Amino acid sequence: MKKIHQKLILGVDIGGTYIKLGLVHPEQGILGKARIRTAAVKGKSGFVRALSEKIDELKHTTNLDYTLEGIGIGAPGISTEEGVIVQAANISFLTNVNLVKLLEREFHVPVVLAKDSSLAAIGEGAFGVAKGMKNYIVLTLGTGLGCAVVVNGEILKGASGLAGEFGHTLVRKNERLCGCGRKGCLETYVSGKGIVRTVFELLANSNKKSSLRDYSYNEITPKIIFQEAQKNDPVAKKAFRDTGKILGEKIANLFTIFDPEAVILAGGLIEAADFLLPVIVETVEKSTLYFLKDKTNVLLSALGANDAALFGAASLILKRKKEILI
Ligand SMILES: [Zn+2]
Repeated sequence: MKKIHQKLILGVDIGGTYIKLGLVHPEQGILGKARIRTAAVKGKSGFVRALSEKIDELKHTTNLDYTLEGIGIGAPGISTEEGVIVQAANISFLTNVNLVKLLEREFHVPVVLAKDSSLAAIGEGAFGVAKGMKNYIVLTLGTGLGCAVVVNGEILKGASGLAGEFGHTLVRKNERLCGCGRKGCLETYVSGKGIVRTVFELLANSNKKSSLRDYSYNEITPKIIFQEAQKNDPVAKKAFRDTGKILGEKIANLFTIFDPEAVILAGGLIEAADFLLPVIVETVEKSTLYFLKDKTNVLLSALGANDAALFGAASLILKRKKEILI
């Protein structure tokens, strides 16, 4: 049977642990996925090479006949209007590289770059649970904690494009050191890295039996903590409870400040939503200003834990908006 030729968009979500790729069809969603370990990429040329290899690999694994219509990239940290990632702690090999120019030269298709959390918000608005909403907030709970605030259908940029750095608001002053150089940022508690730190603190401060004691700091991952929580491990369950409580208190502040229709949770950590969401909802309800209490709508991304940004990357290309959202 002859394969139908399709025009697809490549969404690329650059994370601290993995660079995720998705072939997106505007109606059918993600038709193929691949990922690259971020730590395995050596330099910007290594990045281009890895991307190119994965694009070839996707052609084989999906068995689709397609041409790329564009590449949408989500990256953490700060990027300029020209497409340069200025600052991103976990992806130093791409810092100060003009990613848009580099990839347009290599792949000969339009390339757009945006902050990963902005893309997640665009993806939720175009394809996900925020469809039809004009005011909402998306939090991406991945290796770090991303946030994008949508006001009247537009992503809030702020005076210098830095609005939404929710992960770097202080939550416990002078405590955990953050990648930004300060101590006590929310991200050091509510993120993949944060929950690992919480587990080790809990283990150090109690003599509770826990299978998590068998792991070294470098071995433990949020996934392992989740699996142990499913097996009823008390430390793993408490780590999720503590994380949910801190996040719930901070989300209550978001409801009070922005009055959104919903706060949407995306990112890898929401795979553990069974443990996180009940305590988040309970804490938000307890901590929000009384006249907003019946309006605290906390939702989970419907695009899969890690796919919101890939959908957002595709939306950017679809709209042919060649502007950089930061
Ligand atoms: Zn910080």
